[in-house]
Amino acid sequence: LEFRRVLFRSVIMMGPPGAGKGTQATRFASARGLLKISTGDILRDSIKAGLPVAIEAKRLMDAGELVDDATMIAIARDRLLRPDAAPGFVLDGFPRTVTQARALDAIVAEHAAGTLVIIDVLVPSDELVRRLAGRRICSSCGTNAEPFDTGHRCVKCGGEMVQRADDSSAVVLERLQVHQRATQPVLEFYRDRPTFRVVNGAQAPERVALELDAMIDDASAVGAALLKARQSS
Ligand code: AMP
Repeated sequence: LEFRRVLFRSVIMMGPPGAGKGTQATRFASARGLLKISTGDILRDSIKAGLPVAIEAKRLMDAGELVDDATMIAIARDRLLRPDAAPGFVLDGFPRTVTQARALDAIVAEHAAGTLVIIDVLVPSDELVRRLAGRRICSSCGTNAEPFDTGHRCVKCGGEMVQRADDSSAVVLERLQVHQRATQPVLEFYRDRPTFRVVNGAQAPERVALELDAMIDDASAVGAALLKARQSS
């Protein structure tokens, strides 16, 4: 399997809502020819397409709660095992619970022989609230490129820029709490790995990008060396 050969180029982008992980994941993936997988985007697409799984998912998303682990693991697994993930992938928004993180390890162990690079994008919570309140996404293609002025059209497709239902102030606080409760433990799950890195996400996006690129390259090299050592022992 090709998946087996290239897995060490794969990255998990962690961090709270509003940290900029989606933006950085998209940029890094396209610069390196990797597949970006956003489980939030997959869910929003399923809702748009009116898939049965989407009814309960939409209710939970609108309330700022997590969709159940079994559903999310099935979605991630399906996406990861398709051929276009073979060159490597960047995960955005998955795993969000320790159960999901364990399942991801199992998928990797079953189908590949590599190590994942894990990045935590760190941003103070008052800054997150400020960013999420101002965030707009394109109602047709999902882009969240600035500027965010009202009436602004999407720079990519000309679609209407709107506020995400779950970016309203009531839901944002719940999402940040859910992140603290369910996702913070995932960082503890990964923290001791030699391929775990933290980036300061409160800087300008271009600065974050520079630091991220160097960090991911360094961690990938560490991962590749570990893999080699393991294979030859
Ligand atoms: P995001 O676009 O990553 O902020 O995700 C939006 C919403 O989709 C989240 O608030 C959750 O309700 C749901 N969601 C996305 N990914 C996951 C996941 N890995 N586990 C549980 N729920 C998720």
